[in-house]
Amino acid sequence: MSRFLDEKFSGLKEYVPGEQPRDKKYIKLNTNESPFPPSSSVLEAVNSEEVKNLRLYSDPSNKALKEKLAEIYKVGPDNIYVSNGSDDILNFAFMAFGDRGAAFPDITYGFYKVFAKLYGIDSQVIPLEEDFSIDEKKYFGLDKLIVIANPNAPTGLSLSLDKIEKIVSSNKDSVVLIDEAYVDFGGESCYGLIDKYDNLLVVRTFSKSRSLAGARLGFAIASKEIIKDLEKLKYSTNPYDINRLTQAAGVAALNQDDYYTANCKKIIENREFTANALKEMGFSVIDSDANFLFVKSDKISGLDFYLKLKEKGVLIRHFTDERICEYNRVTIGSREEMEIFLEKTAEILN
Ligand SMILES: *Cc1c(COP(=O)(O)O)cnc(C)c1O
Repeated sequence: MSRFLDEKFSGLKEYVPGEQPRDKKYIKLNTNESPFPPSSSVLEAVNSEEVKNLRLYSDPSNKALKEKLAEIYKVGPDNIYVSNGSDDILNFAFMAFGDRGAAFPDITYGFYKVFAKLYGIDSQVIPLEEDFSIDEKKYFGLDKLIVIANPNAPTGLSLSLDKIEKIVSSNKDSVVLIDEAYVDFGGESCYGLIDKYDNLLVVRTFSKSRSLAGARLGFAIASKEIIKDLEKLKYSTNPYDINRLTQAAGVAALNQDDYYTANCKKIIENREFTANALKEMGFSVIDSDANFLFVKSDKISGLDFYLKLKEKGVLIRHFTDERICEYNRVTIGSREEMEIFLEKTAEILN
């Protein structure tokens, strides 16, 4: 830390991204990336013509992306906000809507508490139930920014649409942000409710189901007024936040959306295959609607399992929070990757 940093930032606890080691080639099951490459349309769109165009600024209005997303999700282009990764929308939401405090679960995406701290927002951290589920009633009438990942991470459990609606409808005077980073793997999206509730902000990403984690592209679906608020912040900070190559890649990905739908189906199949195999080896496996499994075994500690797998060239995500330190989060990769993961797991347990 330099002696120049404002005091208000000195106590910040940054988000710690999953490790991306370069020492050897790992089977990477630790950051919920897709095992599948982007669609052929993306490879064609990000071509030398587009690279030459990098001398020009990107379109700050993201017109092409918004129109394509509007067509797919059957909403107006003005119900869509496009961002440099969905983390950026989370950032803006805490910045803009957190004045009266924010509420989110104790076990969830680790970035929420970082943003709350960054903006000096009072956090009401609501513990998950014993079985890691969310009791929706604990979010009724809180009158503050509510942030829920659905499906939740790292548990993979999801809330039904009617429970989400009850949370949204009981907090009419504050924004309810539903982070749907994993919804394409089996959850129920709530974006259909935006016509009915002007306080609902649905956040999505191209990073997981659309194989573009490295391109950094996220979007939000919400009432026109909320979208305008987000645009206001963007034009007050970084109008060209999405680069040309990512814009081209995003539109191209949406033009071949069937490819991604088919990939999600494969991930779901691999997830069920992996869950069953782990259960046969005595693991507890939380029901997952996401592209990962949250698992633990009585035969080995969470930390040991993670370390031993790493030695064998397989990376999974270990968490140190006391409540979940016996668990690990395992991203669902290709069938071959999951077979190797299971083989190494069996070796470790024997
Ligand atoms: C991965 C993830 C994000 C961030 O996605 P980006 O679009 O890559 O910034 C947001 N929320 C949750 C719950 C995630 O798991």
